[in-house]
Amino acid sequence: MSEQSSSVVSSQLQQNVAVITMSNAPVNALSTAVRKGLIEHVSQALENDAVDAIVLTSSLALFSGGADISEFSKGLVEPSLPAVLDLIENANKPVIAVVSGPAFGGGLELALASHYRVTFADNKVGLPEVNLGILPGAGGTQRLPRLAGPAKALDMIVTGKPAKAKTLPGVFDVIVDKPEELQATVMTFAGELLAKGEAPRKTSELVIDKAQAPEQLFAEFRKGIAKQARGFYAPERCIQCVEAAVNLPFEQGLAKEGELFMECMNTPQARAQQHFFFAERAASHVADFDKSTPVRDIKKVGVIGAGTMGGGIAMNFANAGIPVVMLEMKQEALDKGLGVIRRNYENSAKKGKLTSEDVEARMALLNGTTEYNDLADVDLVIEAVFEKMDVKQAVFTKLDEVCKPGAILATNTSTLDVNEIAAVTSRPEDVIGLHFFSPANVMKLLEVVKADKTAPDVIKTAMQMAKTIRKVAVLVGVCFGFVGNRMIEAYSREANRLMLEGAKPEDIDKVIYDFGFPMGPFTMGDMAGLDIGYFVREGRREFIAHDPSYCVVADRLVEQGRVGLKVGKGTYLYEQGNRTPIPDPEVIEIAKQEAQKLGIEQREISQQEIVERILYPLINEGAKILDEGIAAKSSDIDVIYVYGYGFPVYRGGPMQYADEIGVNNVYEAMLKYREQLGDYGKAWFEPAPLLAKLAEQGKSFKQFKRGE
Ligand code: NAD
Repeated sequence: MSEQSSSVVSSQLQQNVAVITMSNAPVNALSTAVRKGLIEHVSQALENDAVDAIVLTSSLALFSGGADISEFSKGLVEPSLPAVLDLIENANKPVIAVVSGPAFGGGLELALASHYRVTFADNKVGLPEVNLGILPGAGGTQRLPRLAGPAKALDMIVTGKPAKAKTLPGVFDVIVDKPEELQATVMTFAGELLAKGEAPRKTSELVIDKAQAPEQLFAEFRKGIAKQARGFYAPERCIQCVEAAVNLPFEQGLAKEGELFMECMNTPQARAQQHFFFAERAASHVADFDKSTPVRDIKKVGVIGAGTMGGGIAMNFANAGIPVVMLEMKQEALDKGLGVIRRNYENSAKKGKLTSEDVEARMALLNGTTEYNDLADVDLVIEAVFEKMDVKQAVFTKLDEVCKPGAILATNTSTLDVNEIAAVTSRPEDVIGLHFFSPANVMKLLEVVKADKTAPDVIKTAMQMAKTIRKVAVLVGVCFGFVGNRMIEAYSREANRLMLEGAKPEDIDKVIYDFGFPMGPFTMGDMAGLDIGYFVREGRREFIAHDPSYCVVADRLVEQGRVGLKVGKGTYLYEQGNRTPIPDPEVIEIAKQEAQKLGIEQREISQQEIVERILYPLINEGAKILDEGIAAKSSDIDVIYVYGYGFPVYRGGPMQYADEIGVNNVYEAMLKYREQLGDYGKAWFEPAPLLAKLAEQGKSFKQFKRGE
């Protein structure tokens, strides 16, 4: 047995088989070093007369996670992945990929270019490139349809979702039950191939049976994904690649893939989606703690208030197998809250998402109480009572009395000062904000709010706990509305003002929908209830008194009881049992009258102005938030907006969007509207100092470093 190795790829001769092993921790990314290592070791094996067959495998949990995305920005460094795959596919000795763990992107393409593939039944493989705004660019779109069939390949390439190996019998020559069986199996398989004198079998030479890919397959597929792919550039290009695989010879199909890959790679969408990929991961890297910071155990949780939020929050923990004690003041409220949770779970069971045993198991983890003493042993308690400071302070005073030392005391407040809440306790270092979004059991975002005295281990525990309950946590500081709601205020205010200036709500909504949000501001307002915004304004009249136009139409609607979808009437009208908004000329008339009273001349407003007026003040507020350190980095704001507010991921979030279109252009537009809109412009379009600074320096938000 002889052995050779480079740092990340090594080879070993086992009888007459060269076993080439990748070990580029943590995920076997196909970095330049791995690609070079593969070329080197495969070439040597081909030249070595003692080698009759080659096995490619991994020493890590993953076979390979795919391309090293951090190399994308550096441009291509030779050898390219297609060059590696060319060498493998054209090898004159059989190459067997032992897909010993998950294989994604380039990792799967490597296996597809090998002559044979061996794996285990539950292994997962996929081509997730579409999620980065691109497509598999190393032959994946041409080889997967040849092996898996065009329909399955379409689904995997266009949705980016992984598939279990056992659903891909065309792709794998041998599928064993358990990963432990792989090693022995592959040696037997190699021996059999050699004994039979099987020649290398090139995937590129396989012919797709056209009957499997009639025209209507593609037409129907396009129709089926139209909604989820709306606005995205890459999915359609993925489909075109699979069409090419079906209709063109391999070499031409490969050329088409290369062409469309470059097209995708050069789009703002690819930049945005790749930015977002890193943004999401970076959100959990927090300067407040490091590896040495301890983490507190969260084995039991208390939730105060079994209303809309409390119920959803409790469900997250029950779903993760963590017991919860829910506290209400009255038994009726408790019964009602638990009843809503049960119905929620039962609905999921009806849809087949849960079994009835799951429902019972989760309900068994949820216990109700009206006694604070029952919270004596919880490790974390989350308060979700009415949004009133005195009520919250009373709750925290009680919690301070009954909770054990070291318990984390959290509030789900949307707007109140977490410092003031912490101040009523004897342990402000244990107090933190955990701002869930509604519906709390569904929305992935969690703003973790650090108060002045919150301890680093409390922050670290909260960030880790978020992962346990499958949330994406972003650490933010204390201010009114934190990051998300503070910025959305600017967005809603401008939408309302545009209506006064003559834009119709349905036109504004359409522009924002076309920008890529799931719905426009007026549809969203009606769904949330216009009364919610009204109550917030009631508490802030002194801050908005200088602007008599501030959301006046929304105020009039609420005064008339038109509070939105729940009463069938808000900015729009709704037919019973139907959530489709119907434009209402009466609302446009109200806007007209209010505009007249305020001396605002109504006019035609362009789509571009709508986008700029609604999104630039939101970005401007983001700049202030960044400058104040309420968000640590601009990418954190992007994560909040994509996960909490439906900002289109293909634009990367508001700050990435600003970076893409140019911070200076946002700045110039702010100045333009400040001049054009008179007193209103002066009040709301003053550029944030950081926006001005970055614009002057020609920098992006991404380049911003605090203290520079
Ligand atoms: P809700 O009215 O649906 O529920 C509040 C619950 O708290 C009620 O069941 C009430 O009986 C109970 N309660 C009130 N005082 C109590 C006390 N002293 N002790 C125990 N229980 C008490 O309200 P919600 O929408 O669930 O909001 C709760 C909190 O979550 C608020 O702070 C709100 O700002 C915040 N929040 C709400 C949303 C949202 O979209 N609804 C989103 C994020 C955060």
